[in-house]
Formats: sequence, C-alpha cells, structure tokens
Amino acid sequence: MKPHLYLFIIIGLLFTSNCYAQKPEDTEDWTRKPAVVTPGEGTTPPSDAIILYNNPSDRDKWEGTTGEIKWTTKGSTLEVAKGTGEIHTRQKFGDIQLHIEWSSPKKVSGNGQGRGNSGIFLMGLYEVQVLDSYQNETYYNGQAGSIYKQSAPLVNACRKPGEWQSYDILFTAPRFNPDKTLKSPAYVTVLHNGVLIQNHFQLTGKTLFIGKPEYTYHESRLPIVLQDHGNPVRYRNIWVRDLSSNP
Ligand code: MG
Repeated sequence: MKPHLYLFIIIGLLFTSNCYAQKPEDTEDWTRKPAVVTPGEGTTPPSDAIILYNNPSDRDKWEGTTGEIKWTTKGSTLEVAKGTGEIHTRQKFGDIQLHIEWSSPKKVSGNGQGRGNSGIFLMGLYEVQVLDSYQNETYYNGQAGSIYKQSAPLVNACRKPGEWQSYDILFTAPRFNPDKTLKSPAYVTVLHNGVLIQNHFQLTGKTLFIGKPEYTYHESRLPIVLQDHGNPVRYRNIWVRDLSSNP
C-alpha cells in the first residue's frame, strides 16, 4: 500500500472515533432545575416547609375528632389533654419530610406502654411510636421510634424524661392500582435526635394493635394524626415538606 493511503486510513479512523466518542455533556442532566430553598438555622424550618405548629396561632391548622382541638397550647408547645382524643392536620399529605419535637412528662408515672405514650400516625394510619423509652422496657417494636408492631428502632436514642427530642421522618406513601390493589408499599426513614433508627423500612400495612397488618386502599393524601394515649406528652416545632407530586 502506498504511504498516502495509510495516512487516509489513519485520518478516517480518527474522524470516526471522534464522532462516536462520548462527551462529558452526554451525561449532564438539564431537564429539571432544582428549586432554591433557604435552609433553616438548626432545626428551624427551611423556606419551603409548611409550619404545622410553632405557636398558638397554629391551633387552627389542626382539628379534633369533633371539631376544634382540645389540647393545651402554651407558647411554642402543644400538649396532649388526656381524654380529648387525637388531633389531625386540616391539610392532607402523601410523601413528606416531617420534623417534629416531643417531650414525655418529666415526672415519671407508669411503665411500659403507659409511660409518655403518644404517636405520630402518618396518613392517620402508620404510627411512628412516641414513648418515654428512657430506661423503660416494653416490647421492642413498641418502644420509642418503632413503627408500631412492625419494626423496632435500630437503636434506642431516647433522651431523659422531660427533655426535648426530635424525629425527622421521611415517608413515602403507598400507591394503589386503579382496581384498588396495592401497587407499591409505604417506606419510612426516621432519625431520632439525629440518630438513624429506621432505614427505609418497608411497611407491611396500616398500624394495628391486634393482628397482622395489611394494606387497604386509601386516598393518596391524608392528614397527619397525633395520638392521645392519655399521657401529657408535649410537641413543638412541627413542620413538614410536601414531597408528593400528586394533587
Ligand atoms: Mg402510641
């Protein structure tokens, strides 16, 4: 072969390889620009959060089973008033990031499930247990930070009675098919006082006191419920970020 043919082949190969070579921009994603969010200072809400309770003027964001809530509001705290029933948000949510702070009574009374018991029912159905689990033994899938009767927390990160504690909860709501059968289950991740205690746990159904949980069809958005279990548990600094794309 003549030398100039070699040159043509080499140029040709270089040209072809250049055409098919992958470029850095091939793997750049420009489809969705992330919204700008101003983070909170410490545990204060970020700019896109919905504040559910910060002071008594937030009372009307909640409802009791028979109208207005009967729980006690004192400044920044919302306290369970024994026997007045659960309360729920007026707004409905599906997928969320929830920050909530709670404190079990400083004066210890009762034991096991009877000590500082309340709960956060995501969609009103799936309970993240609130309990004074500081040196207080109960069944593990019923202690603080458990997904009640489904999953014990990975560790016990409880502070002493009367001290403020936080839960940061990431919840993915279950999805249902048009025929109302389950399409995908719910998942929950929980940090208790900044410590991971539930890591993308797959729920087996709605929380039940007795029996095996299972899923039953429900709406894609439902209120968040706080439980009255007869103990004066206090809550404060409750905010949520709505992660659902569905209406
Ligand atoms: Mg409870």
